Amino acid sequence: MTYEYEKVATPASGLRLHLNENTSGCSPAVVDALRRVSCHDAAFYPDYTAAIAACAKHLAVADDQLLLTNGLDEGILAASIVALRGGGEELPYEAIVVVPAFDMYAACADGAGGLIREVPQREDFAFPLQEVLQTIGPRTRIIFLTNPNNPTGLTIERAAILAIADAAPLATIFLDEAYADFSGTTLIGDAALVARPNIVVGRTFAKAYGLAGLRAGALVATPERLAPLRRVVPPYSVNAAAAAALPAALADTAHYTSYLEQARRSKELLYEMLDRLGVPHWKSEANFVLARFGSHAKRVVDGLSARGIHVRDRSADHGCAGCVRITAGVLEHTRRCIAAIEEVMCGAR
Ligand SMILES: *Cc1c(COP(=O)(O)O)cnc(C)c1O
Repeated sequence: MTYEYEKVATPASGLRLHLNENTSGCSPAVVDALRRVSCHDAAFYPDYTAAIAACAKHLAVADDQLLLTNGLDEGILAASIVALRGGGEELPYEAIVVVPAFDMYAACADGAGGLIREVPQREDFAFPLQEVLQTIGPRTRIIFLTNPNNPTGLTIERAAILAIADAAPLATIFLDEAYADFSGTTLIGDAALVARPNIVVGRTFAKAYGLAGLRAGALVATPERLAPLRRVVPPYSVNAAAAAALPAALADTAHYTSYLEQARRSKELLYEMLDRLGVPHWKSEANFVLARFGSHAKRVVDGLSARGIHVRDRSADHGCAGCVRITAGVLEHTRRCIAAIEEVMCGAR
């Protein structure tokens, strides 16, 4: 079986609430930093000194515990290659993916020659700890965990993550914290990591910091764990513009906290609307909400699209029949989306 990354059509115009991007844009300080990128910065291979220092300080880790990547996607690809290469066609190494999950895990694990073992979430997306533990075998080399999860927005208990790391010492536990800015919970800096060097934490500056277009992500692990990853990630994979942008983005805490606060309030508004309409949904620790519109899902997605608002139909994901994922960020954008959903749903009655 091959897994193809589901390439999302980019709408030519309209309100993009389908990819969890920061629709307020990045910090204006980032644009200033980009303006200062000189013709020599563009002509020379990038220097990462300032970007690494800013990022390491921000995450409170040492420079050698950090690897900057061209978006977190590149970190997922590099970790998949390092963990899964060399298993052979007959008995490939195995990746465990708890579904529904971010598409890139299966796409990258498959691309690296691994065999994917999917473990479905339980009823109501409860985390299937026992099932993951039972699926770990002698050939398991990478286990993808997303905290908070995409597309559900639900979290995994710390104890469950640690139990999995303990049960699979030969495997990389790839802990994707793409939405940790919103949950406020991270395993970076946790004392439990000292005894569990097999955990690699992934972060992105695409979501909360609004750098999706520039591509900036990071992996955090022990220097020993990162060493083989550094050999796989191309030496200049983060371009000079992204390297200049990162310190500026991290320094603008006002822009960041304003977006986090709007995301929190946007979720409240979405929950109220969904309750009013009787649409089941899950309380999210990220900047999006998953809602089960059921037989109305297609009507909602198409009706919103006709009004220039793009949301994501996740019906094809495991356990997500009739589910739509809506980015919850900028308040004004959420209000527009809510008005459009009410129009479409009330028109449907
Ligand atoms: C968006 C996302 C990423 C990818 O981040 P980039 O830095 O844009 O590559 C990784 N993991 C999850 C769960 C995401 O939702």
